[in-house]
Amino acid sequence: QTDTLYSLARRHATERANAYAVRDSARRLTWSALVAWVDAVAADLHDAGLRPGDRVSIWLPNRLEAVVVLLACSRNGYVCNPSLHQNYTVDEVAALLSRIECRALFAQPGWGADAAAADIFARAAELGSMKRVYALPGLRTPDADMPPGTHPMPMPAQHPRAALPAPSTHADQIVYLAFTSGTTGTPKGVMHSDNTLLANGRAMVADWRQDHSTVLLTLSPMSHHIGTVALEQVLVAGCELVMHDPSAGALALDWIETTGATYVMGVPTHAMDLLHEVDKRGLTKLGKVRDFYMAGAPIPTETARRLLSLGAKPQNVYGMTECGSHQYTQPTDSVEVITGTCGKSCTGYEVRLWDQENADIQVKAGEIGEIGGRGGLLMLGYFSNQTATESSFNGSGWFLSGDLGRLDEAGNLQIVGRKKDLIIRGGHNIHPAHIEEYAHRHPSVKKAAAFGVPDERLGEKVCLAIISGDQPPTSDDVLQHLAREGLSRFDMPEYFAVLPEFPLTASGKILKRELAQWVRTGRL
Ligand code: ATP
Ligand code: MG
Repeated sequence: QTDTLYSLARRHATERANAYAVRDSARRLTWSALVAWVDAVAADLHDAGLRPGDRVSIWLPNRLEAVVVLLACSRNGYVCNPSLHQNYTVDEVAALLSRIECRALFAQPGWGADAAAADIFARAAELGSMKRVYALPGLRTPDADMPPGTHPMPMPAQHPRAALPAPSTHADQIVYLAFTSGTTGTPKGVMHSDNTLLANGRAMVADWRQDHSTVLLTLSPMSHHIGTVALEQVLVAGCELVMHDPSAGALALDWIETTGATYVMGVPTHAMDLLHEVDKRGLTKLGKVRDFYMAGAPIPTETARRLLSLGAKPQNVYGMTECGSHQYTQPTDSVEVITGTCGKSCTGYEVRLWDQENADIQVKAGEIGEIGGRGGLLMLGYFSNQTATESSFNGSGWFLSGDLGRLDEAGNLQIVGRKKDLIIRGGHNIHPAHIEEYAHRHPSVKKAAAFGVPDERLGEKVCLAIISGDQPPTSDDVLQHLAREGLSRFDMPEYFAVLPEFPLTASGKILKRELAQWVRTGRL
């Protein structure tokens, strides 16, 4: 394949110049306007001295510029780092910029959640690698003063095309450097090329039959891999990408109705919040939404049932930064299949389950094993971490996800949990997800997290931490409930704690290694 993200955008601009390409809370661009803007940014970055392979970072809310900058990187052969989340502290952002020797940063003053977020402009300028820092005013405060020493976002009229280098045709070189959520350790940099990203986009468009008439809305931020998967599909299908920005004020439901979205992408929490609003308004349809993509966590049964009743098919999607969205429930109305499995592999990706002790041996049919995969959408490797790259492939070249799964009789993949989260108590394997599922059925349990804590005699013991509703249950109450639900006595937690909140990653996942640390240090 020789197409890049940029060359696809340019093809749409030639073939359907006036069709809409991308929309944010305040603006909407056609394909030709998008490409003109991308060229202007590419020219400015080239003028600033950036050359192929150089790193460019984005710390922005969901606005058009996040797409423009990524495409400019694809155009000139730069590497785009999209993974700076709103709730990163200024120290975390600065450390990441330094770690990747970043040469250009696009950021919006006043957006980062950290009180010191505005300092990022001075901190970035201090980095030896940095060649240019761009400051973008908020969409509702266009006339705000920008920090000294920063550059404004380049606009199309300022740069004639002549100043541009020829577009990159190296579709197999690194163009995208995203960071994992950091749930199991320090976030790892994941390298993707135009080819690996587009392989995922092509598969999703083929499997879900996206075409020009699709209006694809992402509720997730473009800083998350879900946002990138949205853009990949839009580039392949030539349809419109709509971004939702919660900080812009419009409720997701209003934005779905305003934009006529037909395909929505997000995490299960987004769907639960939307359904709450749908119920408040007594609606029987979710606008024009036909498909609802949810990745990153299991989907509660009730959420799937309600979406189906509104005519929006829920897709339970399993994926990760390293290999996009490769596994999803294919069109089906079975709530059991949708909530209990992540369905089949996408076109062009194969999944096999490997023995937890020896990843070169496949497990027998129906047994639990580590989920391994092979196909064109796999990452190139981890950034500047050869050891991690090598240890994430088995002897025959299958990528090892670190997640445990099982294939049901129909060949649908069930996610069992993370290999690192598995609790081994006196030689007996305990899957935390199992305990959590039962705990969630207790009326006073809002959220539950089960995890292992070191024990001299047994190796590990089980701890269950919960966030409760108004009336915190006692430990006895919860343990009796677990027994009634059918939890075996070998899986019973021996420690129990009620917490006001859980430590979370920037993308909202529970940090179990931190919870275990709290127990070890006596804080819990
Ligand atoms: P790190 O790799 O730094 O520890 P992370 O694995 O959480 O962090 P991501 O790439 O954002 O980083 O998340 C991918 C993980 O999310 C998967 O490996 C899996 O554990 C979990 N996951 C993704 N989709 C689903 C799903 N549909 N159901 C259950 N878990 C899922
Ligand atoms: Mg991971």
